[in-house]
Amino acid sequence: MEKEQTIKRIKKTKTKKAKARKVREKKIQEIRKKLMAQREALLTGAVEALNELPGQTVFPDLGDQASAETDRSFMLRLKGREQRLLKKIEDAIERIDNGVFGICDRCGEEIDIKRLEARPVTTMCIECKIQQEEEEKLMEM
Ligand SMILES: [Zn+2]
Repeated sequence: MEKEQTIKRIKKTKTKKAKARKVREKKIQEIRKKLMAQREALLTGAVEALNELPGQTVFPDLGDQASAETDRSFMLRLKGREQRLLKKIEDAIERIDNGVFGICDRCGEEIDIKRLEARPVTTMCIECKIQQEEEEKLMEM
């Protein structure tokens, strides 16, 4: 009798975990969609900024010219900050596709999904991030 209850309890825990995993995966896919949209906005914003330059229509027919060459000149003209953000976004999308998204770089634990939703490009769990910031502060002293 007691054994049966234990088995039941184990089964319940397992289902719970599987459910949590599914929810997490679904949320990660939602994050991926957001990242793709953000990436798109960054690239589109860059094109608009380019076309606003006086006396220049940089890419009159973008559709036909979406070559690697064009991509590269976009990247060169993106502002440094935007470039870094774009890189982070693309890295995050890559991690999602490789199934390694949301794992802390430092301790290897899963990063809290709420943290990921708020900051999808993060590669560290909150504990490690705080620790890292404290270490950086010490280095500056
Ligand atoms: Zn960590």
